[in-house]
Amino acid sequence: MTTESTAAPTTRAWVDVDLGALVRNGAALQRHAGVPLVPMVKADAYGLGAVPCARALLALQPHGFGVATVREVEELRAAGIRERIYVFSPLLPADFTAARAAAAVPTLGDAASISAWVASGGGTWHLAIETGMHRAGLRWDCIGEIAELVRANPPEGAFTHFHSAERNDGSWELQEQRFLVALASLPERPALLHAQNSGGIVRRGASPWSFVRPGVFLYGVGSGDGAQLQPEPVVHVRARVLEIHDLQDGDTVSYSATWRSVGSRRVATLGIGYADGYRRALGNRGPALLHGQRTTVAGVVTMDMTMIDVTDLPCRVGDLVTLIGRHGGEVITVEEVAVVADFMSPYEVLTGLRQRLPRIYHEAVA
Ligand SMILES: *Cc1c(COP(=O)(O)O)cnc(C)c1O
Repeated sequence: MTTESTAAPTTRAWVDVDLGALVRNGAALQRHAGVPLVPMVKADAYGLGAVPCARALLALQPHGFGVATVREVEELRAAGIRERIYVFSPLLPADFTAARAAAAVPTLGDAASISAWVASGGGTWHLAIETGMHRAGLRWDCIGEIAELVRANPPEGAFTHFHSAERNDGSWELQEQRFLVALASLPERPALLHAQNSGGIVRRGASPWSFVRPGVFLYGVGSGDGAQLQPEPVVHVRARVLEIHDLQDGDTVSYSATWRSVGSRRVATLGIGYADGYRRALGNRGPALLHGQRTTVAGVVTMDMTMIDVTDLPCRVGDLVTLIGRHGGEVITVEEVAVVADFMSPYEVLTGLRQRLPRIYHEAVA
């Protein structure tokens, strides 16, 4: 592993992933919550790379990991991850054999799938309790429907999931009350109880539950106003200057000629575009760092190239430009890019970074 991003083998554009910051973000959450972590590494660890992220997070001795599909479990197993892995999306009975073979722990939330899991051989499972999101799980006020089933086949754990934990609107408190009602109506209280995602962790102190399930905070995205902790940046999207163009008054830049030079200007062409996951909505608005100084995207983002205004900055072909992350003393956060890209979700910005950008892993990023 290298620590110098400018020494990266990639010449065009890539993502520097700071595994040191990832682990420090996890450690901060663990200290704050006072219980073990189940880092959510679904969707390839939000696009950063599930295997390297999970391996780095082993330093925190997590209770286990969380994913969304059996294939994601298989990928981690193939890489030698032996910790517990929960699948936090409902599975169809057709997936049960593969889930069991990969030693996955399914999260089940309806009578038919619980019966099918038991009938197909059983094994450890957790009960998903629905408290306000109506996405997955059994309604908190309908637990009676499965009382007999769970008496005969008790789940090892039970959990719920908050729909707006990044807001201060009282909703997670209501969901937690419903969760408690559900737990009280089970014949027996399961040994492991869990509820908090990133927003739910940083909005309260010590966790009352068995473990916490952070995702986005680990990867450097904060949880808005009211958060008691802020993450360090983990993702640094870099692109190099491929060409420089000197423009005369009235010259235009990129498709549809939306950017027009007033007087003489200079633009630099970067080797990154929307096919890399650098969103088209960032045209004429996206922030960029060149030698630690801010500038802005000029014109529309194209599939493979994006131009930035470098009129007032020293710039040479081959220079490194940062589109997300830190360079020098300046930082462009994922949240800032999401807002500028027409109020996208920061989760979508991260998971939208495409495989054409190699991920380069570092113990530290300057
Ligand atoms: C994705 C997910 C999380 C993590 O959510 P963040 O907001 O990224 O922290 C936690 N629990 C479940 C069930 C999830 O699906």
